[in-house]
Amino acid sequence: MQIGDITVDGVVDGIARAVPSEAFRWGAGDSAGRGLDDADWEPHRQFLADDGMLEMALGGFLVRTGDHVVLVDAGIGVFDRGVFKGGAMLDNLRAQGVAPEDVTDVVFTHLHFDHTGWATRDGELVFPNATYRCDAADWEHFVPHDERATRKLTPVADRMQTWDSDHTLLPGIDVRRAPGHTPGSTILVMSSGTSRAMLLGDVVHCPVELLDDEWATIGDVDPVLAKQTRTALARELESTDIPVAAAHFQGLEFGRLLAGEGRRTWSV
Ligand SMILES: [Zn+2]
Repeated sequence: MQIGDITVDGVVDGIARAVPSEAFRWGAGDSAGRGLDDADWEPHRQFLADDGMLEMALGGFLVRTGDHVVLVDAGIGVFDRGVFKGGAMLDNLRAQGVAPEDVTDVVFTHLHFDHTGWATRDGELVFPNATYRCDAADWEHFVPHDERATRKLTPVADRMQTWDSDHTLLPGIDVRRAPGHTPGSTILVMSSGTSRAMLLGDVVHCPVELLDDEWATIGDVDPVLAKQTRTALARELESTDIPVAAAHFQGLEFGRLLAGEGRRTWSV
């Protein structure tokens, strides 16, 4: 994906394969909503694998802007448990000509374990020359309260620069606070010349959540706020042609939300 002078490439770490009816709820992602079954998914089979499973990418995005080599989210790391399987990120970075020491910035859309896996390994920084960046609200929420995040991220604490408002983070990259999935959940807006694109983090997990306001992923820290953030985003996107990708979209592929004849569609 080329956005003016900015280059954005997906960097796959692995994949999560979930039973679709177990991954989302209708109404809200908590007990207030209802479960979704195969019939609910039938109109949305374009988002499922041939065998009916929901395949969600694990990984991040490599953004090259000016002198910066930016990794947006750091995958799940070497991991093979439950529905998650990861570990390929560094190999896939190298395949794109980037060694860990080349990365100048690691930007986390939020601090869940499937986005921070390669932040450190055995207590050592994986990207030794990088400045690590996240929203202050997520740092406060996860460190030291979440044991797994604390173990993974404490070694980067003195390299971590946090933000607490919407602003230009790096040349061509703005952060926009999008709370709900986590308190510091963030959207990145990349712009160059007249071109724009967005990285949505986990504000949505599958494009189906942009098509129907009532679909909600399971696992939002604040499901009500997450829904507000998501529906406002969908309303904004449907009136633009801005390409967007989220951290778990299949193949880390960008697409556009289109509106017409009373319903939204997703186009890649
Ligand atoms: Zn995630």
